[in-house]
Amino acid sequence: MIGSAVICGAGIAGLSLAHELVRHGWEVTLVERAPGLREQGYMMDFFGPGYEAAERMGLLGRLRELSHDVDALAYVDERGRTRASVGYARLARALDGRLLSIMRPDLERALREAIGDAAEFRYRDTVREVTDRGDGVRVAFAGGSVRDAGLLVGADGIHSHVRRHLWGAEEQFIRYLGLHTAAYTFDDRQVHAALAGRFVMTDTVDRTLGLYGLDGDRVAAFMAHTSDDPDLPADRRAALRDRYAGLGRVAARTLDRCPPGEEVYYDQVAQVEVPDWRRGNVVLLGDACQAVSLLAGQGASLAVAGACVLADHLVTAPSVPAALRGYQAQWRPVVTAAQRAGRRGAEWFLPRSEAARRRRLLMLHLMALPGAGRLLARGVTGRTSSAR
Ligand SMILES: Cc1cc2nc3c(=O)[nH]c(=O)nc-3n(C[C@H](O)[C@H](O)[C@H](O)COP(=O)(O)OP(=O)(O)OC[C@H]3O[C@@H](n4cnc5c(N)ncnc54)[C@H](O)[C@@H]3O)c2cc1C
Repeated sequence: MIGSAVICGAGIAGLSLAHELVRHGWEVTLVERAPGLREQGYMMDFFGPGYEAAERMGLLGRLRELSHDVDALAYVDERGRTRASVGYARLARALDGRLLSIMRPDLERALREAIGDAAEFRYRDTVREVTDRGDGVRVAFAGGSVRDAGLLVGADGIHSHVRRHLWGAEEQFIRYLGLHTAAYTFDDRQVHAALAGRFVMTDTVDRTLGLYGLDGDRVAAFMAHTSDDPDLPADRRAALRDRYAGLGRVAARTLDRCPPGEEVYYDQVAQVEVPDWRRGNVVLLGDACQAVSLLAGQGASLAVAGACVLADHLVTAPSVPAALRGYQAQWRPVVTAAQRAGRRGAEWFLPRSEAARRRRLLMLHLMALPGAGRLLARGVTGRTSSAR
């Protein structure tokens, strides 16, 4: 089928779907509330189904160019002393070499470049109203104009506006996992030098701070901490300074470099569970319907791969409803399994007691032993690989 689509959200999922549809002659409009590519972001491990999909999409070369070399994953104590370390080359081998460390904005950049002007981009805009006419949708944009298309895709992230508009209040679909997360980038020569090419995480209970060195003196920081209250603090910077105090010199410098609150990525850690991803000729994609959370470490990967599955069904099925049925039937079990693995890995990602922290340390030491490739792969991805 060749058709037309309006995609709300030009993030990883929306751009991936657009990339695949325009390749098959579809007419695609992306509507994105940000003024352009979002520069704010965090470092991601990119592997698994999204890696396979990116290869099929012909994007791997560009993603490699934009990716960062990381020597090791090191867990450090409050004084910066290494408690455990795993070589990234070993991690990559455990995933059969199919792993990239890439900043979220760079993944979006690669997709945006590959689409070029083959799709229409409406930045600083959003969907205001949707009318399902049976054989397609009429979408009115907040910016004023109206578009008729075969379908509307809500690829607008964990707090999806399309989902809220057509499915209802967000609370019924969000499974809060008891954590808040934050991320920002900054320049600091001393912090960059202290990282020495490693991805460094604090080996701490109930809170963790992770740092990656980027080009020059740029550093990407991310944080995650427990919170019984899903509501976000009014002053993000103050909340982070308070919660991450006492983690040593490098952490203190990182907090000093925290930009104003509005430049900090800050959100709840949550999963999204929507009983039916379809509403007539409207469908949800990516975090909007399948957020697995950073505990699973695969959200971006699944966003790319899920978009490819949806595109495959749209170009081969006889009708939009048949395509959406096929997409949900094929993709939902993969997402459910990843969400379950993410929840199982919560204690691994962020220990909630001293005993759990020590267990993780022991596992990390075991992983460093020769022949522990499978254990390593399971630790990183929640599943096994062929590596030894
Ligand atoms: C700290 C952190 C670390 C992570 N690490 C990893 C990792 O290592 N590996 C991995 O695979 N995944 C990781 N993830 C998960 C990954 O980032 C997400 O799963 C992925 O970004 C989801 O893509 P998406 O396109 O569905 O949503 P998003 O990336 O959220 O994109 C949604 C887009 O919709 C736009 N939008 C929102 N509302 C509207 C609106 N009303 N109108 C128009 N546009 C709108 C947004 O501006 C955005 O461009 C991590 C996430 C976090 C927070």
